[in-house]
Amino acid sequence: MRRQPVRVLIVGGGPTGAALALLLSQRGIPFILIEASRSLDRLFRGEALMPSGLAALEQIGGADLLDGLPQRPLAGWRFVLDGRELFRAAEPLTPGPACTLVSQPALLERLLERAADCPGCQVLRGTAAAGLLEQNGRIAGVRLADGQELRADLVLACDGRSSSLRRQAGLELQEQSSPLDLHWFQLPGASTTSAAPPLPQGDWFTTVVGPAGIFSLFTGATGVAQLAWVRPHRAEATDPRQHPQAAAPWPECWARQSPPELAAWLRKGSVHATAPVPLAVRVGLAPLWHRPGLLLLGDAAHPMSPVRAQGINMGLRDALAAANHLIPLLAEGAQPATSQLDAALATIAAERLPEIQTLQTLQRQEAERGMLLQGQPWLRALLLAGAPLLAPALRHHWIEQQRPLRQGVTTLNLLESLRLLESWAPAMMQRPARAE
Ligand SMILES: Cc1cc2nc3c(=O)[nH]c(=O)nc-3n(C[C@H](O)[C@H](O)[C@H](O)COP(=O)(O)OP(=O)(O)OC[C@H]3O[C@@H](n4cnc5c(N)ncnc54)[C@H](O)[C@@H]3O)c2cc1C
Repeated sequence: MRRQPVRVLIVGGGPTGAALALLLSQRGIPFILIEASRSLDRLFRGEALMPSGLAALEQIGGADLLDGLPQRPLAGWRFVLDGRELFRAAEPLTPGPACTLVSQPALLERLLERAADCPGCQVLRGTAAAGLLEQNGRIAGVRLADGQELRADLVLACDGRSSSLRRQAGLELQEQSSPLDLHWFQLPGASTTSAAPPLPQGDWFTTVVGPAGIFSLFTGATGVAQLAWVRPHRAEATDPRQHPQAAAPWPECWARQSPPELAAWLRKGSVHATAPVPLAVRVGLAPLWHRPGLLLLGDAAHPMSPVRAQGINMGLRDALAAANHLIPLLAEGAQPATSQLDAALATIAAERLPEIQTLQTLQRQEAERGMLLQGQPWLRALLLAGAPLLAPALRHHWIEQQRPLRQGVTTLNLLESLRLLESWAPAMMQRPARAE
């Protein structure tokens, strides 16, 4: 039987690690979280939260968690083929809140700030795990770059899609071939917070498919327009800008397949695009998420495609599931054997796997449909010809397909007993720090 309190180490302060840290902190459970970066202000952290993610956040941090953070609810989704609108669907598509863009750096700052507000809870920025420590067949902590060792009974690896802990633990990642990669642009001249004209489409997330390619355009959480230009996976040669005869500036390239109001706006001198940031989309799933003493969560276990914004939402739901199984074992007075901790890790992974598999399949199917449409001009022409009759049915069908991507596949709520535990936490926080 264990006599010492369980030492918990969270590696990675992205949405998954930060949410988990707050869930522990609110219940007075000490931890150390290490985050490699000092600043969380990295470009192109995704920011769309689906109703499933918004519900998870409310359970994790309370109804006021997002108060005052830069955010914009989407007005809806709009689909354009060869310059003509096929259909649009207003938010909320399904009962519940609208899909909302929330500044991820601001959200992470808030989660981590609140998580550190408990004796024994430490958030160490600019500290990277360089290797795993092992003892008697169990993961026993991490080694930092400077050689320092952080010993732990439980290592929760939330270190993202390129997880080095996953590799070092010998846990395989089955990579799925992604049909697409992205060039990501910001259009700062289009800021709705400056004097420059806002997007003519307002807060609609507009996807345009045409002969030159596919792009999605929307106003981000902080009011700056963003554009994701979709490219076939690892296919530089098919990028229209690589062709000598297609030397138009990017906004002109987009304008040529946009509806008139958007084309006119893109051709305005005030709109300029930043240099594209190429983003290789990496999608995969680790068949096994755990080893004794170690659990992968979030993108470390299942790197998600950006299609229909799932990764943050799934990371938050992973954190909730982990909390439900781990907190009862970690709470004050509990003396779990290591075998109980390891059994909980297996249970968490088994609970989360089916939802991740389903959503990754749906994301892939949606990406493939887009690529098919882009590659088949006759199909776009057929859909546009039939649009007056077909559009309501297409819209209805698309909304039905979105349900699992918005709400998740499984029912997942924080256990009632853990909510109660939160209300007792202030008293528990009076005790001395335990995690050293
Ligand atoms: C272009 C793009 C757009 C996207 N848009 C959206 C969207 O709108 N909505 C959505 O839900 N999802 C979106 N996603 C997916 C989403 O960004 C990820 O799924 C999500 O960030 C995963 O969260 P995470 O906490 O598991 O990992 P991450 O966000 O990757 O966080 C991992 C953290 O671990 C840290 N770290 C890594 N290694 C170490 C180490 N050795 N030691 C210490 N720290 C370490 C990193 O610095 C990082 O902060 C998008 C993805 C892409 C590529």
